[in-house]
Amino acid sequence: MVRYPRPRVVVSECLGFRPTRYDGNIIYDETVETMKKFTDFIPVCPEVRIGLGIPRNPLVLTRNMNEIYLLDTKTGENFSHRMKEFAHSFISYLNDIDGFLMKSKSPSCGVGDAKIYGKDRAVIGRSDGVFTKLMREFFPLLPIESEKRLLKYEMRRNFFTKIFSIADLRETLLGAGSKELVAFHRRNKYILMLHSPHLLKKLGRLIAERDLRETWELKREYSRTFLEALSRNPGRGSYANVFVHLYSHIKEDLVEKERKYILALIEGYRTQKVLLKTLIAYFRGFIYRLGNEYLAEQRFIDPYPEELDQMHVNE
Ligand code: SF4
Repeated sequence: MVRYPRPRVVVSECLGFRPTRYDGNIIYDETVETMKKFTDFIPVCPEVRIGLGIPRNPLVLTRNMNEIYLLDTKTGENFSHRMKEFAHSFISYLNDIDGFLMKSKSPSCGVGDAKIYGKDRAVIGRSDGVFTKLMREFFPLLPIESEKRLLKYEMRRNFFTKIFSIADLRETLLGAGSKELVAFHRRNKYILMLHSPHLLKKLGRLIAERDLRETWELKREYSRTFLEALSRNPGRGSYANVFVHLYSHIKEDLVEKERKYILALIEGYRTQKVLLKTLIAYFRGFIYRLGNEYLAEQRFIDPYPEELDQMHVNE
């Protein structure tokens, strides 16, 4: 049975931790509630942490020239500078984190969907909330998602895969030697192929030439390149490519009908007729039935606890 590490994830505090919303509310989100069993959350409400009360006046983003400001809707007070100061102090005590899960649409926490208002209160664009934007600048290679974006299965799968893989890497690097890193690389081969075949090759070379480097140097270079690989989001073509590789490992053990069926499923996925979840379930079944140990140890098929795959999703 796979033992999954617990990812450390910064989360918007109003998502089920404390009623910190401007109107004094709290939001219960199924994804966050289910994740609590498997995740070490670090809740933060940036607006409360810069000294605003609960309840408080709503804030908005406005653009003036090329600058985006965080303003109080009623008084017009500008909180951009205070938010920047808080973000700097917040990251100074953050360490060993694996990702961010933020509240959608918020001018502080939103992920790409916070409204920006221009003159006459017209919406002139959307962006990250001010706090999220700063976190992205400080941690450009870490996954950042909102609870709303995670309603889509592929987004959710990518996010969970990333935070659990990064947590696994973090634990592997703790005091381990190059032997553990070799095993880590082996079990993450198809996750890496999914996100970046090019960086999979680069990491493979690093592992093959591991004796030419000091262990600390190997770990540092491996870690940086692994995060860079996972920072890319795979499309359907990338998934289909990995499934074709998995298929090549089991095809000799399948009967003709099964071969045709599985190739049709991969093609169906590529052309948006088959769901990713369905394809994964079929492959999992074949791998278990055939007892293929190499594929069974690959994290690509089961990158995170199964319970996290059983929530409601928009396909
Ligand atoms: S969205 Fe962010 S700033 Fe707003 S209440 Fe939630 S945690 Fe606080």
